[in-house]
Parts: sequence; structure tokens; C-alpha cells
Amino acid sequence: MPRTCSVFGCRGNFRYGPKVSAFRFPRDPELAKIWAKCTMRKDFKPLENSRICELHFHKDDIIREISGFDEKTNRLITCRLQNPRMRKGAVPLYPLAP
Ligand SMILES: [Zn+2]
Repeated sequence: MPRTCSVFGCRGNFRYGPKVSAFRFPRDPELAKIWAKCTMRKDFKPLENSRICELHFHKDDIIREISGFDEKTNRLITCRLQNPRMRKGAVPLYPLAP
């Protein structure tokens, strides 16, 4: 069951909302504060299971595939990640796009 998005008004992963990738709050407390502010909720404190979904990030901040060089075939192989990752230090776009 994917986690729902903490951003005010966002329907990400809600029953009738869009299915999206949702990201855990960063461990860095300063960065987590910025993320919390971007939820647009007053005095929001992120919990272990709080998430912000992909709709609030620049697409370049979300890593969806990884590449590696295969020495056997001399080819660059690209794999799509089943669970996209967040670029280190990324913050949501603010003010948020609807
Ligand atoms: Zn969202």
C-alpha cells in the first residue's frame, strides 16, 4: 500500500488520486524542516511514515534509472528502478505547483 502525500490538498496515492512515487523525509533536520514547510500545513511535524510525492519535485531530482557499464558486452546498461530515489539534498518546489 503506497503512502499518501503529506502536502496540503494533494491527492497523491489517495483512493481516487493519482498513483505516484512518494518519498520519505530526509534525515537531515534542516532539510526536513524545508520539506515540512512545503507541505503547507501549519506546524507540520514529519513522522516516520510521512511522505511527499513526486508531483512536488523537479523531475531531475528524481532518479528513475541507473546506468552501468557491462564489461562482458562492452555496453552501457540502463536499469529502471522499481522504487525511484531522490537526489541527495533535493527539496520540493516551493511555492508548489497545484
Ligand atoms: Zn503530493
